[in-house]
Amino acid sequence: MSPHDHEHGDDHGHDHVYGDDDLLAEVFEGGPPDDYEILEIALRELLFDKGVITPAELRAKIVEWDGKTPENGARIVAHAWVDPAYKQRLKDDFYSAAAELDIDTAGPQLVAVESTDDVHHVFCCTLCSCYPRAVLGIPPEWYKSKEYRSRIVVDPRSVLSEFGTTLPDHTDVRVIDNTAESRYFVIPKRPEGTEGLSEEELAKLVTRDSIIGVTEALKP
Ligand code: FE
Repeated sequence: MSPHDHEHGDDHGHDHVYGDDDLLAEVFEGGPPDDYEILEIALRELLFDKGVITPAELRAKIVEWDGKTPENGARIVAHAWVDPAYKQRLKDDFYSAAAELDIDTAGPQLVAVESTDDVHHVFCCTLCSCYPRAVLGIPPEWYKSKEYRSRIVVDPRSVLSEFGTTLPDHTDVRVIDNTAESRYFVIPKRPEGTEGLSEEELAKLVTRDSIIGVTEALKP
């Protein structure tokens, strides 16, 4: 079986598995490689040469990480909205609570914080790009930008307004900083008028950006 006809069980529309050529094509897609890309290629080839990992193992990892999408985070939030006991377990022990929904969050510790009328949370990584990848997948480009990382901590309300988010004056805006060991996950405020919705319908209101905290959850 070639890598390209391998079937895998995720349901988010990916139909490709990377071969080595694809990896290189992806690297060169945006023009000549930058220093970090050259470093990555050199390191990868060394790891292959020394037999530390095989190309097949690397491809399997890429497929695994491609399967980690914001839909996982949305399922977690929707379940927390409908089940207060679950929400508490999520705050106490994210890893175990995610596992209840068959979501594997092995890796850096995840910490759930809840936004309410009184306090709105938004996270960043001031140093680089730390992000709760296990439940949101790959971070968006703007999240890694120096502009976001520097401005969100200094003037969060104006950054939020650029995302279309305006909060009442009485809401305290808290910016929280991810680290290599620990990543935040915002449980956005449940929108009003959603009392009659199913958990599945609720999950559709939970966007990636609302879990980062730059927006609120969608209104039904
Ligand atoms: Fe970082």
